[in-house]
Amino acid sequence: MPDCVFCKIIAREIPGTIRYEDAEVLAFDDIHPVANTHILVIPKEHIATAKDLTEEHQTVLFKLFVVAKKLAQEQGLAGYKLHLNVDTAGGQDVMHLHFHLLGGEFKTSGGETRV
Ligand code: AMP
Ligand code: ZN
Repeated sequence: MPDCVFCKIIAREIPGTIRYEDAEVLAFDDIHPVANTHILVIPKEHIATAKDLTEEHQTVLFKLFVVAKKLAQEQGLAGYKLHLNVDTAGGQDVMHLHFHLLGGEFKTSGGETRV
């Protein structure tokens, strides 16, 4: 297994607040939320960045969107953001592909905003 914090959450080697799990996808709260709802939605397969996606990942990529939709419904969000940072130069810190599901009130330096 790569030395990867999200793989360790999948393996329950480090704790996380799990919001959804199936054979291919895991979703858990971001440890530093920037919005009322800030959930990370990840494939269980270690895919480092969106640059590493191939045709084989079509099904799991689709599932990430479906899980995000379900979680947003559960959270009562009328709309939401799905944020994806791609590689270090794109602001990605954890090299395990993840969508940030963001909704509700945002904690910004300029005050609170809503999607
Ligand atoms: P990114 O910059 O897109 O790679 O985002 C990585 C996100 O992972 C950040 O929002 C972090 O707050 C979050 N994060 C890092 N470590 C953990 C952890 N152990 N549990 C939950 N979220 C984490
Ligand atoms: Zn990983």
